[in-house]
Amino acid sequence: MSYQVNEKGYYGSFGGAFIPEMLFPNVEDLRSRYLTIMESDDFKKEFNSLLRDYVGRPSPLYYASRLSTHHNKEIYLKREDLNHTGAHKINNTLGQILLAKRLGKKRIIAETGAGQHGVAAATVCALMGLECIVYMGEVDIERQAPNVARMKLLGAKVVPALCGSRTLKDATNEAIRDWINNPVETHYIIGSVVGPHPYPDMVARFQSVISEEIRTQLLSKTGKETPDYVIACVGGGSNAAGAFYHFLDEPSVKLIAVEAAGKGIHSGHSAATMVLGKPGIIHGSKTMLMQTEDGQITEPYSISAGLDYPGVGPVHAHLFETGRATFVSATDEEALAAAYLCCRLEGIIPALESAHALAHLDKLKSAPGEIIVLNLSGRGDKDLATYIKHQNL
Ligand SMILES: *Cc1c(COP(=O)(O)O)cnc(C)c1O
Repeated sequence: MSYQVNEKGYYGSFGGAFIPEMLFPNVEDLRSRYLTIMESDDFKKEFNSLLRDYVGRPSPLYYASRLSTHHNKEIYLKREDLNHTGAHKINNTLGQILLAKRLGKKRIIAETGAGQHGVAAATVCALMGLECIVYMGEVDIERQAPNVARMKLLGAKVVPALCGSRTLKDATNEAIRDWINNPVETHYIIGSVVGPHPYPDMVARFQSVISEEIRTQLLSKTGKETPDYVIACVGGGSNAAGAFYHFLDEPSVKLIAVEAAGKGIHSGHSAATMVLGKPGIIHGSKTMLMQTEDGQITEPYSISAGLDYPGVGPVHAHLFETGRATFVSATDEEALAAAYLCCRLEGIIPALESAHALAHLDKLKSAPGEIIVLNLSGRGDKDLATYIKHQNL
């Protein structure tokens, strides 16, 4: 069984490139060149040196001893929260900007939910001196104000998406619309393992540095390269894809993806795509998708803007269908409680997204001594207002 994309751009029956004709030359140019560019020595050298000196990689793999004692488990946190700009997103934006340069692009567009991807995109555009336009839902602009300020400070233009739920999905629609109107000079930096082929594969490869490092770090800490569990939260699925990547072909490693159950899976206010979704097409690929009987996309909801997405990358739809990964969910309240616990026990304020992964530690039935690696996808600075508001829960 292969869990990687095939030559046609599919993971099993999921993936593909469902795009308007106007975008075909652009996507085809990317598809035919991305692997050659990414595998060239010149690219690898620049990417790796910036990952080290600019992003601050490798991110530590930290044995969380008080959290481990509390849960009676062996818990290691992969500290993506310590990356420059505060999350795993920079691994991907850095990779894509280096690629865009080599494709001769002059203008960068991006969509953002929590604002982490927007900030990471604005950051690498500043680094490379390229114009940057970020589309963001109006609701997210309100609830993620500090990140909006950061993007502007970094020189990006932030354009509000005013349609639908005015969150991530709508921002993505606006970005795609822009791309259709400016197909030649513009590179669209997609922020997760979503979108038409080759994006899901390309983004997973850029994020795979996470699991590559976990293997080396775990070996030096425990004498074993593979953990028993890898846990990660899933919005579109890029931090999970990166944390899973180098373990996909090792069945002894159990992969757990945590979705946002919002106010409860069946409350009508959730983003638990795998439970509520059916196959459908969103943003250029076939995947699992929350939708009505007649195929209209359902408005998702989560307290965390980064998980507030009605679909999931096609790689995850495939991991779900094949049973290679287990998909679970955590509610807003469970995530908040797990975040407060992590603050008090470890002195780490996690991103609300990552807190969904932490929330699963309470429910996980692992055997004594089994090693758990949890991908702490980002830090919680951007979520301070939400944490303070709910602190009396
Ligand atoms: C964006 C974001 C996520 C969700 O995106 P994925 O593509 O599913 O990883 C998770 N955690 C943090 C901190 C984020 O910023």
